[in-house]
Amino acid sequence: MSEVSDVSGIGDVNGTSDMSDVNRTSGVSETNGMGDASRAAAARRLTITVDPDACCAMGRCAGTEPELFDQDPDTGTVVLLDPTPAPARHAAARLCAELCPCGAITLTED
Ligand code: SF4
Repeated sequence: MSEVSDVSGIGDVNGTSDMSDVNRTSGVSETNGMGDASRAAAARRLTITVDPDACCAMGRCAGTEPELFDQDPDTGTVVLLDPTPAPARHAAARLCAELCPCGAITLTED
């Protein structure tokens, strides 16, 4: 009786283990789902354009996202480093456009 009980216990443990595996698989699946969303976002191309004539050299863009923007060392006006950033930088690009006090950063998505 005790051995049967032990076997049942092992069976339960195995069942729990199997459930964990299923949960892990679900987690991976959810991650893959997010990956699909990222791939969908990646399919959307974001293009940044800047207007140095409108730029008032505040430096918010370069200070916020130095991978995308820099400032001209002489004039302080914006220098665009990456006009088509990777999806991982799209949010930062949007933030920079919002922060720009001169409206010198334009984003186009297609
Ligand atoms: S945030 Fe706007 S005004 Fe400031 S440097 Fe960048 S583009 Fe120019």
